[in-house]
Amino acid sequence: MSREQQAVARARKAFNTGRSKPLEYRIIQLKNLKRMFYEKQKMISDAIKKDLNKSVEVTQLHETLGIESEIDLTIRKLKDWAAPRPVEKNLLTMSDTVYVHPEPLGVVLIIGAWNYPWAVTVGPLIGAIAAGNAAVVKPSEVCVHTAKVMEDLLPIYIDKELYPVVTGGVPETQELLRQRFDHIFYTGNSMVGKLIMEAAAKNLTPVTLELGGKSPCYIDKNCDITIACRRTAWGKYTNCGQTCIAPDYILCEPSMQDRIIEEIKKALKEFYTDNPKTCADYGRIINQRHFKRIMNMLDDCTIAAGGENDEANCYIAPTVLRDVKPEAKVMQEEIFGPLLPIITVGGVDEAIEFINKGEKPLALYVFSSDNKVIDRIRDETSSGGFVANDCLVHYSISSLPFGGVGNSGMGCYHGKYSFDQLSHLRGCLIKKLNMEGVNNVRYPPHTPKKLSWA
Ligand code: NAD
Repeated sequence: MSREQQAVARARKAFNTGRSKPLEYRIIQLKNLKRMFYEKQKMISDAIKKDLNKSVEVTQLHETLGIESEIDLTIRKLKDWAAPRPVEKNLLTMSDTVYVHPEPLGVVLIIGAWNYPWAVTVGPLIGAIAAGNAAVVKPSEVCVHTAKVMEDLLPIYIDKELYPVVTGGVPETQELLRQRFDHIFYTGNSMVGKLIMEAAAKNLTPVTLELGGKSPCYIDKNCDITIACRRTAWGKYTNCGQTCIAPDYILCEPSMQDRIIEEIKKALKEFYTDNPKTCADYGRIINQRHFKRIMNMLDDCTIAAGGENDEANCYIAPTVLRDVKPEAKVMQEEIFGPLLPIITVGGVDEAIEFINKGEKPLALYVFSSDNKVIDRIRDETSSGGFVANDCLVHYSISSLPFGGVGNSGMGCYHGKYSFDQLSHLRGCLIKKLNMEGVNNVRYPPHTPKKLSWA
């Protein structure tokens, strides 16, 4: 048996004991998970510093605070979420008990990405534990140091049989995908998302795919451009552009381009000083493969700001690109790096047309003081999430479903959505054995007399 097979078999065996089901057990696991983030804060942030050059403060903001509050919410609400949900009855079931009963799916496979390695791995794990499942956790091999810390810490704090960690790269993930799961929760790029779905189809395993894409940002002429640019720059250059919901590119009218460039430059100076390379709040590209991939996109573009880089340190300065053509390399795939192309369009109609020519993105941003423009863009396009006059922050609202649509993914999570996503919502009808007369109408023979009431 391979290491992966063993982990899955152990998780299945542990699940079959039924110990993941009592709510008290789930809550103990969640509390232990939270304690891990408190007690091992230093180990966690040291690893992220090595992987992505994030400071302790940034790691708290990007990862641990959000996870802790998600755990708190889940512990607080679990009893309500797991309770039977009574539903409306019809005439024939008036005296019966009819409800939706959430039940665990079984063994869930969680495959994480590297950009916010804890949030995208432990986030789904919170949902899996809350819903009473076992879960095999596969962190991304790309964030080398964090994957090791996850492998070392999780088994100390939570049930290591129910929630094993399997580390490794593509071959190990493929071996996992040959096993049978009851749900696969994958975060990563859309190309691999298709492979995950293909593997899942063999066992009719349901999937949640948290993918990416090119999230547009339309800046309307009718808005406070200074504020729009500050918020867009923050959304783009946080984590060095390696955020699934980062605004990928800006759409604006030609007359606004110079002003937007100036305002973004001002914001960058304020956030990261004149030399972002030495600024503690500015990250690094995860590895040289991604560094080369991003630099390659600059070939056919005009740099309006930034562009400095240092391959040995995986550093790329916050960069703005002007007059970018839709055919440019940077517009052919998700950038996932600190390059911000500006594409000029004639106005809101053309912006909508441009957005709709592409795949459905994970997020869509619009900055405008005109509610009609905001409503039009929301109503005439489709995307995983939609935000007006800000970037990224919808991610932090647990009462909103977080997920993609079309090429940006399927299924959603956060808060109760995680619980529901990783539960089977079982429809239940509990009848009594009396009142048989009511049923006469459904039994043959279907004589006209019997059906005369209909
Ligand atoms: P990655 O390279 O870490 O891959 C993700 C996972 O897939 C890893 O665990 C890896 O082992 C596995 N994997 C890679 N190739 C595989 C293969 N051929 N077969 C089986 N498994 C394989 O991460 P990535 O894909 O570079 O992550 C970046 C992408 O993820 C971006 O597109 C980003 O937008 C997206 N993302 C989405 C979300 C979201 O919540 N929707 C969050 C973070 C990242």
